[in-house]
Amino acid sequence: MSTENYQPETLAVHAGTVRSQFGEHSEAMFLTSSFVFENAAQAAARFIGEQPGNIYARFTNPTVTMFEERLAALEGAEQCVATASGMSAILACVMGVLKAGDHVVASQSLFGATVNLFNNIIKKFGVETTYVSATDVSAWQAAVRPNTKLFFLETPSNPLTEISDIAAIAKVAKACGALLAVDNCFCTPILQRPLELGADIVIHSATKYIDGQGRVLGGAVLGSKKMMEPVYGFLRTAGPTMSAFNAWVFLKGLETLKLRMDAHSANALGLARWLEQQPNVARVFYPGLPSHPQHALAMRQQKTGGGIVAFEVASSQGSGKEAAWRVIDHTALLSITANLGDTKTTITHPASTTHARISPEARAAAGVTDGLIRIAVGLEAVVDIQNDLARGLK
Ligand SMILES: *Cc1c(COP(=O)(O)O)cnc(C)c1O
Repeated sequence: MSTENYQPETLAVHAGTVRSQFGEHSEAMFLTSSFVFENAAQAAARFIGEQPGNIYARFTNPTVTMFEERLAALEGAEQCVATASGMSAILACVMGVLKAGDHVVASQSLFGATVNLFNNIIKKFGVETTYVSATDVSAWQAAVRPNTKLFFLETPSNPLTEISDIAAIAKVAKACGALLAVDNCFCTPILQRPLELGADIVIHSATKYIDGQGRVLGGAVLGSKKMMEPVYGFLRTAGPTMSAFNAWVFLKGLETLKLRMDAHSANALGLARWLEQQPNVARVFYPGLPSHPQHALAMRQQKTGGGIVAFEVASSQGSGKEAAWRVIDHTALLSITANLGDTKTTITHPASTTHARISPEARAAAGVTDGLIRIAVGLEAVVDIQNDLARGLK
């Protein structure tokens, strides 16, 4: 399908669809690990790449290809490579574009497993990473070395919703010959399109908003055909590919992504405004609030503030941790779990869960205080979410 003249809502429903001989309306799920050839000559032509077509599901699968085409259309990317999880998308990206001796400059506000990947795995292969402030563009410039090959960030960050200026950081990357990769998990292409702002690579954990109902794991790497060639090469050889079943779930997830992102965002804004009015809330972090330090940048770069809200319970309520745990333990509707991007609202205490393994000093430097709570706002009525939190805040 030519995707040029359609709006995102339309692309999300139609892009990438290929029908089989049966003319099915809903996308088919091809549960097959290999594909049959008409004769030996065709098999040979497929294997040496003379003839396009499917060979084996570690290389390609028609359901996975439909998902890749649809997400590529939404991000405005030439090519998308689907992966088994968000983490394998990041692994495929770094294995594709880096080699021993390269240097990475990364935001210090990254998903925990991403930090572990850079510090404990990629480092073993001779790639060093320097962490800098997500919000200070001059710090990215100052961290550049002659061998810097990749800049890596996610925006908004987790859990404090810091906003990195993608266009400004892309300029710094370009000037020093490095690539910029943006983990676009929190915004999805519905709210933010990093490639249009100058990024070279977009990463997704499809597990979150793209599925939208907390069912399956998946990920994606997107960029130019040339840049995706070694990323796909890694995947085809090493094998953390997306399954056909998961691709089918994500195809259906993309169809409602615009509606869900709008609803998550409206609920999150309603909850953030209400939290700002609560006497026992010391501080609210939400890019859609005028009180957010990068509100103007967020409103330029993203369509809405997104679905993630963080807040600090006032310390007059005893120790920060006690006060935060009291709020969490008085909820009945909200799910105490670290997942996000689900229809069901989730609540977490970052200091004792997602950020528990880092030192108290590093946690303080990252702004993750003991009183901090993160909410991934779902699709329930916002008044019910507010009432659920009000009990513990009293
Ligand atoms: C969850 C998440 C990941 C990792 O994705 P998985 O699908 O769990 O492997 C990466 N980045 C961000 C921002 C995430 O929230």
